[in-house]
Amino acid sequence: MTEAARDIRATAARTVYLDHGATSWPKPQPVVQAVREAVEFYGGNPGRGAYELALATARLIHDARRTCAALLGVRDPSDLAFVSGATEALNIALKGLLAPGDRVVACSMEHNAVVRPLNVLAAQGVDVVWVDADSTGLMDADEVEAAVRRAPTRAVVCQHASNVTGTIQPVGDLADVAHASGAWMIVDGAQAAGHLDIDVAALGADVYAVSGHKGLLGPQGVGLLCLSEACEPRDLVQGGTGGGASELPTQPTARPDRYEAGTPNTPGIAGAGAAAAFVAEHGHAQHGLERELVARLHEGVLALPGFRVLGSPPREPRVPVLSVVHERVDADQLAFLLDKRYGIAARAGLHCAPAAHRTLGTLATGALRFGIGWGNTAEHVDLAVQALAEAAG
Ligand code: PMP
Repeated sequence: MTEAARDIRATAARTVYLDHGATSWPKPQPVVQAVREAVEFYGGNPGRGAYELALATARLIHDARRTCAALLGVRDPSDLAFVSGATEALNIALKGLLAPGDRVVACSMEHNAVVRPLNVLAAQGVDVVWVDADSTGLMDADEVEAAVRRAPTRAVVCQHASNVTGTIQPVGDLADVAHASGAWMIVDGAQAAGHLDIDVAALGADVYAVSGHKGLLGPQGVGLLCLSEACEPRDLVQGGTGGGASELPTQPTARPDRYEAGTPNTPGIAGAGAAAAFVAEHGHAQHGLERELVARLHEGVLALPGFRVLGSPPREPRVPVLSVVHERVDADQLAFLLDKRYGIAARAGLHCAPAAHRTLGTLATGALRFGIGWGNTAEHVDLAVQALAEAAG
């Protein structure tokens, strides 16, 4: 082991990790093992060679695709492309479906992975209409419907769950609204996948963008682009796709190759496949525990003087992220004290979602966000509450 690895191992061992909203850690052992085995043994380049090692690697990716598709309710695994993250999936969806002159209705709680591509598109002549969430971060389907009906609309975009408040948005209703007007429904599932039971087809999402490394418990650098049968975004990146299509001068239109130009991230995909299998087996029990822990944290924080929690009251549906604000001590200072004094990892600031903080009235202050997930216990939560009390006391 290198000296750097020894140091980080010691840091890891004393960390109380409560930043699952940013990325999940530690990863379940089957995920670690799958990544290691992919690097160690799966030497061939999938789809690029007919020798056994390349075929085995192609099979590994095929199996991972099937496992991820089954977990998310994607009926045909070819409708699921492996990309680098939710960010890339959302860029493909937005830039691949919208063109100058189009109109898109989006929600005010969106992450920069949606806001920034939409701002680029707005500068190119796409009409972007923002609909405000209420003060708890929740979107109202009637307001979205009113906005969609006002003029011909190409797409509706909404997160499935907020990375600031944990709010679960009514994306199924929004999909009905979108489809009634012939618009695509694009869902940012970065904070939902792995934390909620998801059936992409039943939700009616035409695009469902997944981050592999958050609730799904896979490694960083992998994400999933899930498409409905009818939805065909333009490909943003062209290149080699292996297989028998090499003679084509243009990108093949067959899925998933269209969206997977270049050598794939085999270790990441192997990890995502193992993670999806793990979530399929343990997710149900884990979701119950996460709900319990986030409610415990919520109630604990509300019992402390000077603190408030963004979003809905305790025990209302939310994914397990919880952002807190103190009336006097700023979020950066709280995060610093929690880390230095208690080894607690939590994230202060705007969480790459200034639009959400603007909606909630916390753009100037930001908040301290806790993200609960795999490996967390009631002891972690109780330590966080105690630490907040002492840090603000
Ligand atoms: N959307 C939301 C709501 C997120 O929380 C994140 C991750 N912070 C993303 C999109 C982007 O995901 P990734 O960084 O994995 O591409």
